This record gives sequence, C-alpha cells and structure tokens, in this order.
Amino acid sequence: MPNNPVSLIRKKRDGVSLSADDIRWLIREYTEDRLPDYQMAAFLMAAYLNGLDAVEAAALCEAMLHSGVVLDLSDIPGIKVDKHSTGGVGDKLSLILAPIAAACGVPVPMISGRGLGHSGGTLDKLESIPGFNVNLDLDRYRQVLRAHNLVLIGQTDAIAPADKRMYALRDVTATVECIPLIAASIMSKKLAEGIDALVLDVKVGSGAFMKTTEQALELARTLVSIGEAAGKRTVAYLTNMDQPLGYEIGNWNEVREALEVLGGGGPEDVRELSLLLAGTMIWLGGKAGSVEEGIALGRAVIADGSAMRAFIDVAAAQDADVTVLRHPDRYPQAGVSVDVVATDAGVVWGFDSYALGMAAVELGAGRLRKEDRIDPSAGITLTSKIGDRVAKGSVLATLRTSTRTAEAAGRIAETVRAAIRLGSGPVNPTKWVTHVVNRDGTFLY
Ligand code: URA
Repeated sequence: MPNNPVSLIRKKRDGVSLSADDIRWLIREYTEDRLPDYQMAAFLMAAYLNGLDAVEAAALCEAMLHSGVVLDLSDIPGIKVDKHSTGGVGDKLSLILAPIAAACGVPVPMISGRGLGHSGGTLDKLESIPGFNVNLDLDRYRQVLRAHNLVLIGQTDAIAPADKRMYALRDVTATVECIPLIAASIMSKKLAEGIDALVLDVKVGSGAFMKTTEQALELARTLVSIGEAAGKRTVAYLTNMDQPLGYEIGNWNEVREALEVLGGGGPEDVRELSLLLAGTMIWLGGKAGSVEEGIALGRAVIADGSAMRAFIDVAAAQDADVTVLRHPDRYPQAGVSVDVVATDAGVVWGFDSYALGMAAVELGAGRLRKEDRIDPSAGITLTSKIGDRVAKGSVLATLRTSTRTAEAAGRIAETVRAAIRLGSGPVNPTKWVTHVVNRDGTFLY
C-alpha cells in the first residue's frame, strides 16, 4: 500500500517504529512540498514524545543530509573544519572561533542555524549586522571560502533544505529537546557542507536543551559516532550552561561582545571557551601539533589583530556594512531600556538561563511564531557571574527592545529578576568544561 502521512503519524504516536523507508518518504514529501507543516509538526511531536529507535534515527539523519546537495570542497586546499553548538544562552562563540581558526589558516565553511526555542542562533546574530547576507548561493559560498578561508551561511534550499524547514518548525512547536532530532539536525547540515573534521560544543545545564550530564553525554556520543562513521574526525566537549556565556544575550548585544573578545578583551569564559574550541579546530586542521599549541596560535591572532580582520573581511565579502563592526557605538540604540535593580545585597548563587533566554525571546530577540521578525537590538545585558557580590540598589541587568512597550519590558524585567538567584554565602565556582568525547571514548576534562 502506498504511504499515507496520517497512518505514519498515527504509528509514531502509538509508539510503533517506522521503517527507514517510511522516514525517507516523510522527509522527501516534506522537502518537496507535498507534506504540509501541520503534518510534519504532528510527526515531530510524536517523535519527541515516543523517541526514535536507532534505525529511525539513522534514516532521519541520512534523509535530511540527502534532502539537498552534499558539497565536495576537495578542490579548496586545506583540511576544512567546522564547529557547532547544541544551543545555549549568550552563546556567541562561533562568531569568535571561526575567524580565529581562519586566521590560523584553517578553512572554515560554516553552516549555522537561527535561534531555536530559548537559545540564540548564529544566523540571527550575523543578520543583526546591517546587510550581512547569510543566503549565498553555492558559487559564492565557494568563492568566499576560497578568498577568506571562512564563510558563514545558513541551511539553504540547496544544502540541507529539510533541516532548514524542520528547524524553523521545531523552534515554534516545542519539539527541540529530543536527542535524535537534534543529532539529525546538526549532522545533516554539517555533513552536507563538505567538511573534513568537526568540533562540537554540547551544552549542559539550565540554559541547554540537555539538562543533565547523562543526557548531554548521550547526545555527544551520538553526534561523534555519526561524524566518525561518515569519516570525519569529530571531537565534542561538554560545556556548562548553568549561566549565560559572558554578559550579553540577544543578537547585536552578542556581536558587540564577540567584537570585544576579538579585540583582545571581553569576558574570560567567552574568551577561554572560544580559544579551546578554536584551538581544537586548528589542531584538527593540521595547523598545530596539539590543542594547546592551537590555543596559543589562537591567542596570537587575537593579539596581532588578524582574527578581527578575518571577521570584518568576511562580513564585507558577505555584503555587510562593516562600519558598526569598526565602531560598535554607532549601532542604532534600542527604543526602550529597562534596568533590573537588586532589592537586597547578596552573592549571585545561580541563574535560570532558560528563563533568561525566553525573556530575550519575549523582548524580540527570538521567535514565538515562524513568521516573527527579529528585533536585532533586543536583548539583556547582565552585570554579574555566579559568585559575584552585588550591592542593594545596584543594576543586575538592563533589558533593551525596540518592538515592545516599556510596560511589556517592565513585566519581562520581573522574570529576569526572578532568574537571578541571590544568596548570602560563598558558592562553588562552576567548571566551564567537564568532558571530552572523541573516537577513543569519553574522558573527564
Ligand atoms: N542546533 C541545531 O542545528 N539543531 C538542533 O536541533 C539543535 C541545535
């Protein structure tokens, strides 16, 4: 009998496994516009609730990978390396590590995603830079990569189109936090872009899709085994997302903080994690004998300005007006700004990073519906990290938006206040990186 979407959705809803052919059929029908969003959304929710077995998960990743072209970049010299994060709050690391690796001679053909759920996305951050074009066709993608050792685009109608559409749908249907869906989404676009090696930042904690170390390790092992089975060296780090990275959440906010790090300053957690991931890319890319040497090379290209130049040059090559990258103070100010003030003195014991990510979405930095437009100036600036002491009356956070009223921002400010937990005694410092997973196994970091 020919496939029928309702019977496949019903099977998945009732916990019955689908065949690899069923999965391939669903993805093909969706990519070729014969299956509407509402049926794909129902399938995704059934998959979220009942999981996918190994056969289904492998078929999903493969079908999504082959929904478009799989690029061959072998004519471009060098070992091509990319990095991907499973999604966090304030995670602007790609904006920093990609130009660092490129400046060290590693070609980085990066395909990223938009904001997903409460987590920000590299594409939305790049598009907060006026004119930045993340929709290059394949010829320009190659040209920019060849000329700059770096290109930064999104899934297209040619590369991983199934992920482009399913990603946007998962964003607004609460179907993100599912290991096989995340693995297929990430690896389908990464394997389609023509890389030789991949570094993964698997986030764990309140601002991550994986809330526990066990879940994050399972995701990391799944991603590494897919990458290695496809013949790509793949290394994953488990990194902490119990507090936002750096101080800035929101699209332009995060570009500005990334520029600070590329300029030699910026918050320590953002700088050191960017250097670890970039150092690993530089090592995998054959430009350093070890990760440590890669990190040292990364520090050197920040210090001599070549990482910053690599970022500004690729932005110009992708049509951006780079004036604001050279002069961030000239960026248009948000219309509304609201401070969250500490009502008591205390020590910052923790953050509800998920709530902070959702507050940024509510301010306009992310989407609640597929068609929502992003407000590039919307975001949250925090003033503290876990363990910092705050005085009564001091500013804990500043919220900015150009698309919400001051009253709406005031209400969101209350959720931000509740998301910053103050206590009275000292608190244990958080470890930024806990594990590394590679083809040899799982190791404490
Ligand atoms: N990043 C992706 O590309 N996809 C996901 O599903 C989650 C994070």
